[in-house]
Amino acid sequence: MKRRLLSQLLPWFLALSLMPIVAIVLATWGTLEEFLSERVLLDLRARVELIRPFLAGPIRSGDREALQAILSSGLDSSIGTRLTVIGPDGTVWAETHEAVEAMANHSDRPEIQAALRGGVGESRRYSRTLGREVWYVAIPVVDGEGRPMAVIRAALPDEAVRPLRIRGLLRILLLGLAAMGVAAGFGLYATRLVSDPLEAMRQIARRFGEGEFHLRVPEPDTVELAELSRTLNRMAEQLEDRITREIRLRREHEAIIASMKDGVLALDREGSVLGLNGAAAQMLGLSREDSPGYRLLDRVRLPALEHFVEDALGSEGVVEAELTFPGPADRIYQIRSAPLMGEHDRRIGSVIVLHDATEVRRHERARRDFVANASHELRTPITAIRGYAETLEEEAADDPETVRRFARVIRNHAARLENLAADLTLLARLEHLEEKGTLDREIVLVGDLLDAAVSLIEPKAHERRQRIEKVCPQDLRLFVSGSLVEQAVANLLDNAVKYSPEGGRILVEAGRTDQDVFIRVQDWGCGIEARHLSRLFERFYRVDTARSRVEGGTGLGLSIVKHVAQVHGGRVTVESAPGEGSVFTLLFPINF
Ligand code: ADP
Repeated sequence: MKRRLLSQLLPWFLALSLMPIVAIVLATWGTLEEFLSERVLLDLRARVELIRPFLAGPIRSGDREALQAILSSGLDSSIGTRLTVIGPDGTVWAETHEAVEAMANHSDRPEIQAALRGGVGESRRYSRTLGREVWYVAIPVVDGEGRPMAVIRAALPDEAVRPLRIRGLLRILLLGLAAMGVAAGFGLYATRLVSDPLEAMRQIARRFGEGEFHLRVPEPDTVELAELSRTLNRMAEQLEDRITREIRLRREHEAIIASMKDGVLALDREGSVLGLNGAAAQMLGLSREDSPGYRLLDRVRLPALEHFVEDALGSEGVVEAELTFPGPADRIYQIRSAPLMGEHDRRIGSVIVLHDATEVRRHERARRDFVANASHELRTPITAIRGYAETLEEEAADDPETVRRFARVIRNHAARLENLAADLTLLARLEHLEEKGTLDREIVLVGDLLDAAVSLIEPKAHERRQRIEKVCPQDLRLFVSGSLVEQAVANLLDNAVKYSPEGGRILVEAGRTDQDVFIRVQDWGCGIEARHLSRLFERFYRVDTARSRVEGGTGLGLSIVKHVAQVHGGRVTVESAPGEGSVFTLLFPINF
């Protein structure tokens, strides 16, 4: 059982101090007893010696009555001692306190025996006559030849010295107790000298354990304890440093992982989620609020993911896959897992990183489609040109009218190729500008810009007896690439002309709202079915391919419009209904 230092040390201190104190008390007690008996015996002896000359005469003459008379004359009260005169045969001759006749023979008393042998008899024993503990001294009175004629005995009841003894004992005990008290006090002080600083250190060390590393252990005066407290403080400082570093590092890692666009997910060996970042939660449709510990596959039910997780947890290396997550718009994720190691390089699960490859794949597809479309678009006029050229070469060279017709067709196709090449070049330039993020801008008056675009399309409109109306505030300005915006407006006007009936009306209108400057091109032509609207701005997307070709369109016009808007940080919208016409709106933000 563990005990406090104080309660362990203090009994030892007390025991250590108690032993000498008890020894001293016992020794003093013995000395007191010895001293008392010596004093009493000496005193009694002196008293007998004092009375002996008075008793010697009657003893010698054997006059017992005279003896009794002396003893009864108040001697006992004056010297406070009981006196007895005993004959050599042990009979009591005279007595201060008792009637002689009633007293037994005293020859068996040790002090009497010693006195009858010629010495001084001393004894302390229980007196049957008095019924208590009594001190005796007996001295013989001898004749001329040294033979004892009688013995004079003085007796003092022990009671007489008892108060003295008790007082002495009390004093010894009190002093002993006081010494013990002082020893206990010193013991307590000495123990606390060690235990108090240790306790203070223990308290602070406990708070270190709770993370309060800013605290410092006070330095006690004892060298060893001061060293211990310095060690503790150093340890706390180092721990604080290390923990602060670790926390900073962890926060940095967390911030990095949290800010990653890629999803990061940690699974334990059973496939339960240990943690995930916001991107992973969003990709997998999980909530970051849910406390980790749930099984991933219980929440995300997707066979492909199930296989991947099984592979990942079962593999010692990196596992990669590309998974399509079905949804309103399919998402394609490149997903990669690596073993997650814990302490002592023990495998504790897997880290899975999800990279959203949807856009990349969409781009790749768009590029593939674009190349296929572009080569198809190019092949059509080239095939036609080649066909007509071959026919010219082989058959029609003689008929000038046919030659002229064929040449016109060849020229038309060449013009189409030229348009296509021009549009492709412009698209490439716009893409490049978009990537670079820079653009040469100038302040242009929107009215002038619209006039320039209209004048490009006017001849074609005129051919169809169409009217182009322009509505634009005089002072409306834009900070844009004038040529690009002019090209975009011309494309919109060209489409409006192409897809409006003869004699139709076209309105081009510009203005500003709180956020944007808008340029709107409206026609009342054939309009577009809703299902085409979302794809209308894709390259080579046409609603009616044959009509577009007849009209000399490349299928790139609206794509160019969209990119022009984008390089300016703007956008283009369309509203249209079949038979009612269309409205295309270019929007340029005022604060870009
Ligand atoms: P195109 O060179 O074929 O005109 P665009 O990219 O300019 O190519 O237009 C794409 C398709 O959008 C066109 O083929 C046409 O079907 C449709 N379209 C564009 N503008 C209009 C419009 N104002 N009215 C009706 N349809 C239009």
